[in-house]
Amino acid sequence: MLEGLREAVRKFLGGGSTYKDSVEEFIRDLQRELIRADVNVALVKRLSDAIRQRALEQEPPPGVSRRDWFLKIVYEELVKVFGGEEPPSVEPRKVPWVILLVGVQGSGKTTTAGKLARFYSARGYRVGLVETDTYRPGALEQLRTLAQMSGALFYGEPAGRAEEIASRGVKELESRGAQVIIVDTAGRHGYGDEQALLDEMRRIADAVSPDEVALVVDAAIGQRAFDLARRFHEATPIGTIIVTKLDGTAKGGGVLSAVAATGARVKFVGTGEKVDELEPFDPQGFVSRIMGLGDIRSLLERVREAEAEERAVKVVEEDIEKGRVNMRTIYAQLKSIRRLGPLSRVLEMLPLSTLPVKVGDEQVKLGEEKINKWLHIIESMTYEELDDPDIIDRSRMRRIAVGSGTTVNDVKELLAYYKSVKAVVKRLKRDRSLLRRFGLQA
Ligand code: GDP
Ligand code: MG
Repeated sequence: MLEGLREAVRKFLGGGSTYKDSVEEFIRDLQRELIRADVNVALVKRLSDAIRQRALEQEPPPGVSRRDWFLKIVYEELVKVFGGEEPPSVEPRKVPWVILLVGVQGSGKTTTAGKLARFYSARGYRVGLVETDTYRPGALEQLRTLAQMSGALFYGEPAGRAEEIASRGVKELESRGAQVIIVDTAGRHGYGDEQALLDEMRRIADAVSPDEVALVVDAAIGQRAFDLARRFHEATPIGTIIVTKLDGTAKGGGVLSAVAATGARVKFVGTGEKVDELEPFDPQGFVSRIMGLGDIRSLLERVREAEAEERAVKVVEEDIEKGRVNMRTIYAQLKSIRRLGPLSRVLEMLPLSTLPVKVGDEQVKLGEEKINKWLHIIESMTYEELDDPDIIDRSRMRRIAVGSGTTVNDVKELLAYYKSVKAVVKRLKRDRSLLRRFGLQA
């Protein structure tokens, strides 16, 4: 499912055409892949529009390439489509925790009950399984065997009303110390018969007051899952969704996005017939996997850092705008210089360069080593000193030098730099009000 997406990402990163053309080409590839995976066409259209708009209107923060930035946008928008940032919590919030499984016949409920038993047993819970399906011959034995395989407790009756069996089963397993109790149901209804399915769910839910109702959906139904998931989501506030057979279909993108679009959550996905082939569904992990971005986290980290620095630059701009310069301003300025390399880049972003102000030579020649030294010096200052560097006398200088592993002369040099920036900013303010007075500036 969505295998072609990795290739599209590789092609995009490989460059070739212009940024704008590459974006359009990527979006076309993405659309084709999503539609092939049965994602709703209107949803694909909305997604492409959102990506295109952000890609062409927003600028990457300094230090981040446009292509990396674009992939971050694609990643974020895809995560939204597939369920959002928060991975669902699979931990029971209390014990005993009663999960009621519902879903149409053949969707994989009984298999999933066995998988869940295994999943929670492995996490150290004492698990109990209740079979209420008296229609399908063999259901009772199927689940009893699955229970044995994972060391879970079991309760079932060969005949009777499902809600009564459920109620007796939960009570019995509770008294035997089960901490997670999973109730399997018959679900003798086909697709299109949602009302009957929901009625059955309500009857059993009334009898056992489950902590969670899980709707089991076969991935092969693709985006047709939307109506079922929507009605289910409306009918039960404690509903989660388990998508099965994700291994056997190309329509997985359809079912996952359709469920997310209803506001319901996919909590687990089944990826095979075997009892351990069940995993908690994490939209972020899923999207980085289909994009083939093993290191998406480091990419996001890089962009996030750059954004923080950009905010710092804004602070410098604001401070300068208001003529409010202190050591914190200098710190933010030095950090952005260090990050961006040539000072000219930074000056481009500061109003300094837009006004007829001459910047001292020594400022332009600030080397990496000196910047690091100065950053250490500033880190050794107290809040009081940061806010008002003028109070830094000889004895404070000595303390700061010792604390930062530098010399008093280094501290002096930094303070001189601070004074020159302050003077420039002061002049800037005056020049600006002069300009304004003569109507030369808006
Ligand atoms: P139920 O009627 O809802 O209880 O469905 P079952 O649990 O009996 O499963 C129906 C069929 O789907 C069985 O053949 C299962 O082995 C198969 N099945 C269930 N989950 C998965 C899955 O995640 N992957 C695959 N490939 N098959 C599955
Ligand atoms: Mg069954």
